[in-house]
Amino acid sequence: MPCPICDDTGWKSVDVNGVSRVERCDCWHQRLYESLLKEARIPRRYAHCEFSNFDLHTDSQREAHRKSAALVEKFPVSSERGLLFYGDHGVGKTHLAAALLKELIRRKGARAVFFESRELLKLVRDTYTQESQVTELEALRPALEAEVLVLDDLGAEKKSEWVSETLGLIVNTRYSEKRVTIITTNLADADNTEPASFAFHLGLRIRSRLLEMCDWIRIEGVDTREVGPQPTHDDITRWQQTSPGSPKNRPKSGLPSRTAGQARAQLKPREGDSKSADLKWPGGRAGSR
Ligand SMILES: [Zn+2]
Repeated sequence: MPCPICDDTGWKSVDVNGVSRVERCDCWHQRLYESLLKEARIPRRYAHCEFSNFDLHTDSQREAHRKSAALVEKFPVSSERGLLFYGDHGVGKTHLAAALLKELIRRKGARAVFFESRELLKLVRDTYTQESQVTELEALRPALEAEVLVLDDLGAEKKSEWVSETLGLIVNTRYSEKRVTIITTNLADADNTEPASFAFHLGLRIRSRLLEMCDWIRIEGVDTREVGPQPTHDDITRWQQTSPGSPKNRPKSGLPSRTAGQARAQLKPREGDSKSADLKWPGGRAGSR
């Protein structure tokens, strides 16, 4: 059935102060949105995510929500700085990132793409097989070139030299091309004695790049997968006090804290190793190719 407004021409007449003009029809905008949304490859489990159904229980959730909405307003002018959401499972990081991506597509026609970081690395790794018709760089191209990239669950991949190099290539390329990158991660901003930290897992250089190219927001919240989608104040208090998942009840890491000077000193770079302060990791390439 043809569009009742434009008869499928994609243009409609509008009256502006008594003058008749043509502009793009709503059906044209809708088709563009649907095609860009398809190219963005947002996983089905996040297809329902919108700003309007994002849980706002804590100040940091409200801040993350506000900054996401502000990014949409600024885009594409003066918006090269992206956002990095970090924090525990279930606080809504991926929900917000997916909602932000959809909003940028819907309102600004952004060419955007969503990748779970492990999945992206697997796509690249799969190109190393003999049957593969695509090169490593072709597999990476959408992530390198999209106007907006969501890199979801950064740090969930197993650490290796190859992983660091590949992630470093993505981060550095997007940084030098001034493209907007949205990152979600469970990594903590602790020092490099902590395996689940940016410094340990990604290295200090990538961490510092990410600080330059993204606004970091530590999102705190309750785990809505445990307390349910619309928790009351009592539900939240009960969860915070009783759940093993609550930050209050979580066992402290067995690793030395940042004040344990002696244990930490052993992990510092050796004398003469001036390349970087990053931890060197012996594994990697061989197992990855
Ligand atoms: Zn139309």
